[in-house]
Amino acid sequence: MISRRVLLKRLSSVPVVGGLFGTGLISSASTPVAAVGRDYFKELGVRTFINAAGTYTSMTGCLMPPEVTDAIKYATGDYVNLDDLQDKVGERIAELLDCEYATVTAGCASAITLGTAGVLTRLDQSKVEQIPDLTGLKSEVILQKSHEIGYAHAIRNCGVDLVFVETRKDLDKAISNKTAMMWFLNTANSKGQIQHEEWLEVAQKNEIPTFNDCAADVPPVENLYKYTKMGYDLVGFSGGKGLRGPQSAGLLLGKKDLVKAARLHAPPRGNTVGRGMKVNKEEILGMLVALELYLNRDHEAEWKLWESQIQMIHDAAASVKGVTAEIHVPEVANHVPSLNITWDQSIVKLTGGEARTKLSQGHPSIQTVGGKDSLGITTWMMQPGQERIVARRVQEVLHQATT
Ligand SMILES: *Cc1c(COP(=O)(O)O)cnc(C)c1O
Repeated sequence: MISRRVLLKRLSSVPVVGGLFGTGLISSASTPVAAVGRDYFKELGVRTFINAAGTYTSMTGCLMPPEVTDAIKYATGDYVNLDDLQDKVGERIAELLDCEYATVTAGCASAITLGTAGVLTRLDQSKVEQIPDLTGLKSEVILQKSHEIGYAHAIRNCGVDLVFVETRKDLDKAISNKTAMMWFLNTANSKGQIQHEEWLEVAQKNEIPTFNDCAADVPPVENLYKYTKMGYDLVGFSGGKGLRGPQSAGLLLGKKDLVKAARLHAPPRGNTVGRGMKVNKEEILGMLVALELYLNRDHEAEWKLWESQIQMIHDAAASVKGVTAEIHVPEVANHVPSLNITWDQSIVKLTGGEARTKLSQGHPSIQTVGGKDSLGITTWMMQPGQERIVARRVQEVLHQATT
């Protein structure tokens, strides 16, 4: 064995990167350059920001609590068998959420694709390898027109056609021996003519598996149990939204045979539609720990915190002449205290877009959402204390635009 001192000495005489790197002999982590304390984002010229917007993939979703990153770091230190880990974590999640079975997926979209694939093939290995070729398989998934959403592409990845219905009559007519699954978008429940229970009732009568996409639907915590208990065969959640787990993780919950079938499409298996949906051991463990933490959280206290934070920003914004600030809570999905700020543009001479740009280009950078004439803010994805900065900056930006 070559001593570290000698290695370092030799290294310092290696003229170019690439000499020893990439040979497997040494990794960049053991170079003399200290890995701790580096400001990687700054080195890369990537700007960080305060997230006053919410759980957006483009904004990298959520921040994981330290217990989750500790679990991730823990998992980096040893090899395990990927299927063993998924089995054990799946059993533990099912126990925690009191459902038949569960697995960690690469996000809710991945849960949808894997779930659909599992429904199509069940546990038949030859069929697994055939997807997205549907020869001899069912080929249609039914959903309501009011539930149409880009994420439904995750269903089509399996080669199936989406069949849209509006009325109960449409639904009854659309069901055939080609129907593989009936898909439901939880957040659109009240928008559709057919609601949770009726959708389920029709599906069960026709022995068609159901999927409920609940991606962004915690809080409330009850939703983690509600729809599997209601009877939905498969339910999907994002790991990197309200659960504050890894951004590239999610949960597929439901009937054991269907979740097991979905697993046949996931890594480590390669000849599958889901091979590109790998979840590593770090994220699998991180997802479990994030879920445990979420379940043990004081949800009431957290809600009160969000309320007081949003009130502070509300008060700051509303103190500006011509500005109206309204606190509201979306009924389903991103169900948290939220602020909608509008203003009389003859007094505050700014469009919504201009206000958002000023906030994102200021110091510190703050990301918000909103429409042409409005500014939308939530505090649940902020670090504690950042609400003060946001309140001050929102007030400043709006005030500066008044005449
Ligand atoms: C975010 C979202 C998804 C995608 O979830 P990922 O975890 O990002 O894969 C799917 N459906 C709905 C309704 C969502 O809000």
